[in-house]
Amino acid sequence: MARIVMKFGGTSVADMTRIKAVAERVKREVDAGNEVAVVVSAMSGETNKLVAYAREAAPMHDAREYDAVVASGEQVTAGLTALALQAIGVNARSWLGWQIPLRTDGVHGKARILGIDTDDLIKRMKDGQFPVVAGFQGLGPDNRITTLGRGGSDTSAVALAAALHADRCDIFTDVDGVYTTDPRIVTKARKLDKITYEEMLEMASLGAKVLQTRSVELAMNHGVRVQVLSSFMDAPGTLVVDEGEIVEQQVVSGIAYSKDEAKITLVKVADRPGIAAGIFGPLADAAINVDMIVQNVSEDGKSTDLTFTVTKVDLDRTVQVLESRKAELAYKAITPDPNVVKISVIGVGMRSHAGVAQTMFKTLADRGINIQVISTSEIKISVLINEEYTELALRALHTAYGLDAA
Ligand code: ASP
Ligand code: MG
Repeated sequence: MARIVMKFGGTSVADMTRIKAVAERVKREVDAGNEVAVVVSAMSGETNKLVAYAREAAPMHDAREYDAVVASGEQVTAGLTALALQAIGVNARSWLGWQIPLRTDGVHGKARILGIDTDDLIKRMKDGQFPVVAGFQGLGPDNRITTLGRGGSDTSAVALAAALHADRCDIFTDVDGVYTTDPRIVTKARKLDKITYEEMLEMASLGAKVLQTRSVELAMNHGVRVQVLSSFMDAPGTLVVDEGEIVEQQVVSGIAYSKDEAKITLVKVADRPGIAAGIFGPLADAAINVDMIVQNVSEDGKSTDLTFTVTKVDLDRTVQVLESRKAELAYKAITPDPNVVKISVIGVGMRSHAGVAQTMFKTLADRGINIQVISTSEIKISVLINEEYTELALRALHTAYGLDAA
């Protein structure tokens, strides 16, 4: 007997036919004698609709009421899934965040989980009941409903799996696993049987939108074995596990890309102490996240070019902030460029292999693709290139690192 958390995303509970299929899938694990806790998202499209209502009611809405509205999508699916399970003879009961309770901080709209009281849940499970938990929602310090940020039901599921000491957390979604890269672009992309937490974290934060990044962090910190698999077919998915579990580690496991970023260059900015702080301090104050930064050594000792990236949505604000500081920063010009893509090769094997970056640079050079910015970390090399080469670069790198399906 195993204790399993089964989480179903929006497309898996999109209508009653699918909710009934979910119930059948859960029943199979129940019939196999497992202890099962289910976590559900809102029906697909539902949260977007609720967010739009809240915006329409008041553009500068009160975050507490926003949460009261958007958390309701999960309440509906928890109840319907419990009903569908009961209809096929499974003793199921819905649980809302506050009923468990799943405690969070008070940051409405993107609350963090503080703790889950599992006493009641475990007691009921021991009595043969199967909980169906509404994902995405919790209870704040003032006893008001909170939500965990978009995609947050992944985090609900992993947190519940950690609190219940579950053997596995199965995340059912509309793809059948984690791929070496986006299969819509690279037809030779392969499904990975296993991926390490660290690699998954990089893939998730770089735009492979299979799992909410925070859920992966949580799984890594608590050693929760996560499996990403499709609810539409009956096949094993991708296991997200500790490095030690992967016997034959590829040097590069996956290639991610993000078109969310824009590049900004400050031309001939003064080269003296305090300038970087004078640029990035005000951006941080404006809650603008900066990702890649490159600054060259100045030739004349007076000025240099400085390039960095921000998300596309922050581009105009970034330019505004910098323009308001022109006198102090003494730069010659600002050149914003939204037509870039960040491509990253990821793999824990990089730690112990040389030449990984060179393969990337050479592959891109052979295709005549110019690299604008480079940044590296222990398990990742990222380059910024012109957006129009996204497909060409992904395909070429996928082949170069030996990732193509046979
Ligand atoms: N329903 C929420 C959303 O769409 C939470 C989730 O599905 O993970 O963001
Ligand atoms: Mg999701």
